[in-house]
Amino acid sequence: MPDQYVMRDPTTQYPKSGPEFSQQQPGPGLQQQMGPQPDAGEHSYRGTGRLTGRKAVVTGADSGIGRAVAIAFAREGADVVLSYLPEEEPDAQQVVQLIEDAGQRAVTMPGDVTDEAYCTELIETARREFGGVDVLANIAGKQQEVPDIADLTTEQFDETFKTDVYSLFWLCRAAVPQMPAGSAIINTTSVEAYEPAPILLDYAAAKSAINTFTKSLARQVAPKGIRVNAVAPGPVWTPLQVVGGQPASALKQFGAQTPLGRPAQPAEMAPAFVFLASQEASYVIGETLSATGGMPTP
Ligand code: NAD
Ligand code: MG
Repeated sequence: MPDQYVMRDPTTQYPKSGPEFSQQQPGPGLQQQMGPQPDAGEHSYRGTGRLTGRKAVVTGADSGIGRAVAIAFAREGADVVLSYLPEEEPDAQQVVQLIEDAGQRAVTMPGDVTDEAYCTELIETARREFGGVDVLANIAGKQQEVPDIADLTTEQFDETFKTDVYSLFWLCRAAVPQMPAGSAIINTTSVEAYEPAPILLDYAAAKSAINTFTKSLARQVAPKGIRVNAVAPGPVWTPLQVVGGQPASALKQFGAQTPLGRPAQPAEMAPAFVFLASQEASYVIGETLSATGGMPTP
């Protein structure tokens, strides 16, 4: 399993997509039912104590990018509150085990981030269990392809914005007053904010909003010593893509459009989140760190 310290050719570090990538599951999907299995760093991520003693909240922590981040945070020395949907319990339990194997605490808090009261309670859980929160990684997201605006329902538009944007507002609003100086918030935008696919109108617009929300909040809370940044992934092999994020027929080509010619694995996203959470990024504020396999970003 490639880790983040051994030099190798990134074009061949992980497989290109092919016909075996064409698969669908009902939402929100389980990572453990995907084949090929995504690599969230379970067997490879090596920590170096960069988040020792930190108290983290991670949304979407059961699978994909959130799972990779939860594993990496724990191996860097953080305790983690895990947010995910109740149907995702089997994936979440695997992450709990990995966090405990790393010698850290994992607190599960399944629920729906489109519910304002749940978002508030999630931050309260960290305060109650860990005595506070100093890292908030907002990774939960919803992506459903709809090729024609005429078929895009108000219900979907609303759900996308509630999941991807409102939850950020609710979680950040609850967390900021609790956060000591030195804390970090990391949001998850996408290359879709810059190169929006015609089939992802609501999602691309929401990801664009996340970028601007990140920059505004970053300027607002920097004087308090709280840093707010975002990560913009390119195509990553996760459940999101196989529960309607892309048409099944497009998945055999997933990631082929990048200069690396392959999709990312969630493990390749985690180091960006770790960097932005850690004190190493003390002067990095309002930034979107792109990990797009070379797809251009501004
Ligand atoms: P994923 O399906 O593994 O993660 C998304 C998670 O969001 C789910 O596991 C679920 O726990 C959570 N979620 C969704 N709706 C929720 C709700 N209503 N309440 C609580 N939790 C909810 O897929 P992923 O690709 O790892 O997605 C993580 C983030 O990365 C998302 O914000 C996504 O938009 C972003 N992203 C993904 C890609 C990609 O290609 N996979 C690219 C760019 C950005
Ligand atoms: Mg999931």
